[in-house]
Parts: sequence; C-alpha cells; structure tokens
Amino acid sequence: MKNRIRRIVSLLEKENLDALLVNFQPNVRYLSGYDGTNGLVVLASDKRLFITDFRYQEQAQKEVKDLKLHFAQRELIYDLAKFKFLQKRNQRIGFEANHTSYSTVQKLKEIIPNALLVPTENLVESLLIIKDKGEVAKIEKAAQITDKTFSHILDLVKPGVREKDLAAEIEHSFKRMGGDGAAFSTIVASGYRSSMPHGRASEKKLKVGEFVTFDMGAIYQGYVSDMTRTLVLGKATLKQRKIYSLVLSAQTKAISRAKAGISGMELDKVAREVIAKAGYGKYFGHGLGHGLGLEVHSGPMVNARSKTILKPGMVITIEPGIYIPGWGGVRIEDDVLITARGCKVLNQSPKNLIEIR
Ligand code: ZN
Ligand code: ZN
Repeated sequence: MKNRIRRIVSLLEKENLDALLVNFQPNVRYLSGYDGTNGLVVLASDKRLFITDFRYQEQAQKEVKDLKLHFAQRELIYDLAKFKFLQKRNQRIGFEANHTSYSTVQKLKEIIPNALLVPTENLVESLLIIKDKGEVAKIEKAAQITDKTFSHILDLVKPGVREKDLAAEIEHSFKRMGGDGAAFSTIVASGYRSSMPHGRASEKKLKVGEFVTFDMGAIYQGYVSDMTRTLVLGKATLKQRKIYSLVLSAQTKAISRAKAGISGMELDKVAREVIAKAGYGKYFGHGLGHGLGLEVHSGPMVNARSKTILKPGMVITIEPGIYIPGWGGVRIEDDVLITARGCKVLNQSPKNLIEIR
C-alpha cells in the first residue's frame, strides 16, 4: 500500500493539487486494503488519512495499512471540517469527478469553504490499470473458481430447468469454492433470450434445441473474473454450429493478436473483421472487451474508439458475440493478461461447442 500511496502523492504534485479525496470503493480498497463500504481516503503530501464510521471500526483496524484511522460520527465528509490542513485558504483539493455526486460536491463546498474544489479523473485508475503479480494471482483464482463452477453447472443443464435456478446455483457455488460471491448479476439467457447480450436470468425454462449463454464471474479477495460460454441443449443445428464457430474464430484470432503495443481499437478490429466478412457485422453491436480487476468494467476499454495502447500487466476480456433477434445469440468471453510478447488466458473452461444430451 505504501508504494501505491507514494505514487498517488507524487501525482498530486504533477496535477497541482494540495490534497485528494478518494471515495470510490474500489479505489479506496486499492489504496488502503479496506474491504468494507463507506470508506474515505484523504491524501496530501504529508497527510494520509482513512475515514470510516463506527460500524467498520474493527474491520478498518484490521485491514487498513499505512493510513491514519479516523472514525466519523455522521456522514464521513462532515468530519473533513476537523482537519486544519483542509481549511487553509485556496487549497486545491481534488475529488473524483466520476464517482462523486453533485450533492456531495455541494456539501463539500460548505464543509471546507476555503478550499478550491478540483474535479479529477482517472488518478487512482491510472495506477490500478496495471496489475502487479499479487493482483494477477487473485484474478486467476477468481477465474479458477468460475471454471470449476461452470463444469459443475453443466450437470444441471436440462430441459425444464429455470434460468434463475441455474444462476442461483452458480452464485452459491462461487462461495462454496472459496470465492466471496458473484462479481455481477449472473446472466443465463436461453433460446430467444440468448440474443440479448445482457439477458439476466429469468423465469424461463430451458428447452431442447436452444442456445444457453452463461456470463458469470466470481470475486476472490476483491478481484473479479468475467467469463461467458454458450452451449446447446440437445443437438446443434447447422446454423447454430456456423454461428458458434464464427464467434469462436473471432475470439481466438483476437487472443492470438493480444499483446503489449496493440491499441484497444486495433484489437477490436481483429475480431470484428472476422464476423463482418461472414456478413454478421451488424449483429456484433458491442465492444470486444474491457479491463477488469477490482471492478468488472474498468480500463482499458477494448472497442472501436479505444486509443489506449495495451501494456504488460493489463487484464482485459475478449468477448465477441453475434446476436440475432428472435433467433438467439452466442458470446464467448475469456479474461487475458497482457504480456510483452502476447497474452495469458486466465480461464480454462472448454470452448468447443458443448451439446448437452
Ligand atoms: Zn461477461
Ligand atoms: Zn465482460
């Protein structure tokens, strides 16, 4: 944590800030080690504070490293009034513009009236976009829990089973296998629902002949995985095989090209061209992938607008899909660690078309 804090403090100088308020939970966690909610980190060149409330006192004492603890009596920001260094005239105090509500900013103006409040973007994010070994190990563990859960769930995929029952079993399995729960609301989308890229599990029952898409991810010590597999209940039709193998070839081609030095936009194009050449371009309506770590969707984005150059230590998803309304859809998603020469795929679940008979 010390090193992370030091790097943020040196960024403050560059950004011409006297202090920074960090209130976004994943960023708070990254800088403090604190796993609870309602935490606030305040950093200045010679001040390192962590503020939470009574409910989290014991937890913070255990988890927070290298920051001075302070326990607030009411909404955390009101206690900022107690710190003299924030009350000095014309101090430039940064807040996380993407994660601080308008009403919080209004309150801050009253609580620290002498300060100049400066909206900042992507300060902590610029650090956490590159993962260290310990972080990669946690994402890998989350991916393993997701793999084991997928292989367990295959035994339960049968005609008549509700999507929601499968989702519940997936989320239960994450905890049983050592995870802390689901990183996001599990997607189980069967048949006509599989053409909805984010079709959250519904009451619908599975039927023979349908595609079933599972998009699922576990949390392990704060770090997440995010994997999608699509299978067929029964024997696949020719068209199902064709669409599936098209998505798979787009996905494997993108994986083969993922490495340090390529931009998000170039990598997106690799997969998009495979699908577009076969005439299905308009059915792939989302970006190829996104970064992940303490959050499921974080930088770098991997889409047609992303100029970010991939660097070693970034972890991204590669998840092309084809979605045909009224017919169904296929998505295949893996998490990959970018390395200097290529990438390492972190999940191991099979990608050949599974037919459940
Ligand atoms: Zn996903
Ligand atoms: Zn994803």
